[in-house]
Amino acid sequence: MVLYRTVFDNFVHIRRAGYFLDAAREFVKYGGTSMNIANFPDYIYTPDSHYEKLYSETVNVSRAVWKTGINTVTTIGPYPLDYFYFQSAGKDPLEYMKKGIDLAACLIINGEADAMGEVGYPHFPVDEKIYNDSGEILKYALDVCHDRNIPLILHTEDMDKNGYLRIEELIKKHYKIERVMKHHANARDISFNDSILKSVVASRNNVKSAIESKKNFLLETDYTDQKEKPGKVIPVFSVPKRAEMIKNSYIDYMEIFHKIFEEVPFRFYGKDFFNK
Ligand SMILES: [Zn+2]
Repeated sequence: MVLYRTVFDNFVHIRRAGYFLDAAREFVKYGGTSMNIANFPDYIYTPDSHYEKLYSETVNVSRAVWKTGINTVTTIGPYPLDYFYFQSAGKDPLEYMKKGIDLAACLIINGEADAMGEVGYPHFPVDEKIYNDSGEILKYALDVCHDRNIPLILHTEDMDKNGYLRIEELIKKHYKIERVMKHHANARDISFNDSILKSVVASRNNVKSAIESKKNFLLETDYTDQKEKPGKVIPVFSVPKRAEMIKNSYIDYMEIFHKIFEEVPFRFYGKDFFNK
């Protein structure tokens, strides 16, 4: 099905042990053309080889998906919950995750991947020490991305208006706000008056309120490729399905498509990966 020349899912986790290329084909079948593939947070490697192996796996998965005809962007970096993995292995999470940031930056500069992420805070309440350490890791990532002009994707808890303003202030101390995006945002977040770019989960209601806000946003599924939990995650074809909904509901759908699938992602990732 062809809905538009570019139908972009801004955040998916695809892995070899999941539906892998079948998931990619399903996405295409419904009209999807492009996706950002982020690390699948797996803890199957040793702490010392964790990032090296995880990143190379993500890069390889992204290349394999690209070969099926999808334009891919690749996002690598330490995930906030890696903290607990290193901690329980008796390692210093700060040291390991900062090294993970350095390695990701290196691979991005070499053209193996495109963005740093998902970095930030765990999405559930944690004690003060872990929260502060996560903040230190985020600041380090912002500095590294600043020095190399790398786009950075945030993972955080659900935030209210003040939460966004707080994190905006932190970002601005270290990096340009337009180089940072919050993934897995809620639709109401778009109406907040901070200037962080938001990537909204592609539910029907989210899409409607995001469009009505007239602000810039991106659409994502945060699809988690798990055979063991079918039906528990938002389906991989959700962004194309929502694109179909937009096409059927908005007279200016071409402008909306151009903005959310081309203009905004192109500006953020800084390269034209949409025209294969
Ligand atoms: Zn996330």
